[in-house]
Amino acid sequence: MKIDLITLFPEMCESVLGESIIGRARKSEAIEIKCHQLRDYALDKHRRVDDTVYGGGMGMLMKCEPIALCYEAICEQRGARPYFVYMSPQGSTLTQEKLKELSGHENICVLAGHYEGVDQRVIDSLIDEEISIGDYVLTGGELPALVFIDALSRLSPGVLSNNECFTEESHYNGLLEYPQYTKPQVWRGMEVPPVLYSGDHAKVDAWRHEQSLLNTAKKRPDMLERAELSERDREILEELTIDN
Ligand code: SAM
Repeated sequence: MKIDLITLFPEMCESVLGESIIGRARKSEAIEIKCHQLRDYALDKHRRVDDTVYGGGMGMLMKCEPIALCYEAICEQRGARPYFVYMSPQGSTLTQEKLKELSGHENICVLAGHYEGVDQRVIDSLIDEEISIGDYVLTGGELPALVFIDALSRLSPGVLSNNECFTEESHYNGLLEYPQYTKPQVWRGMEVPPVLYSGDHAKVDAWRHEQSLLNTAKKRPDMLERAELSERDREILEELTIDN
């Protein structure tokens, strides 16, 4: 997967995207991420990318032309038209389902807004989708873009190693993950559930699945309404809720 990020703060984004799992995946070329300074596409000598809002009101708005020129330069560099996402509090809320869908794109371009946002004509003519990270407003699109890029990158083949696999994690299959434990076996009088060191893999799998159902029922019952549950899952849930 190739991701281009259009931002006014490429250094801030690089410092996050150069670290840890994503940083390693970039080095090994499992994923390609480029941060582009929007000001490089400004048309005047002051490198201005914002202006006042028609109709009055407070704040500044990001201008059309620098964004269009930057996106067009990216299209040329990639030899393709990347799916263009604008991080916006007005977008549809980011979910694991949405990430799965978007991970099918080979090229994605992300626009981080600032000030009051961007001129509507950019959204109408260039943007394929607006995505929000939640119903609250941040000062800029960099943090949302970094959240989006991190979550998207880890679905790309080769970014996570096998033991960091995402398919058993919360949300991937519509449930929350089961509880996990590491050494020591007893800590401050609290013991790791014995089934986990029984060596019986089938029992461990069954316990984990049950706990995943129970965890979801306790913390996010709304997810169970949407999850694809088998007859057996429904029976387990009934037994677990009676027991607890
Ligand atoms: N005036 C805009 C509105 O009311 O919809 C909000 C602009 S916000 C102050 C500036 C930028 O931060 C936006 O252009 C967007 O890129 C980003 N942003 C803020 N909150 C966000 C959220 N919840 N999800 C995604 N991006 C967000």
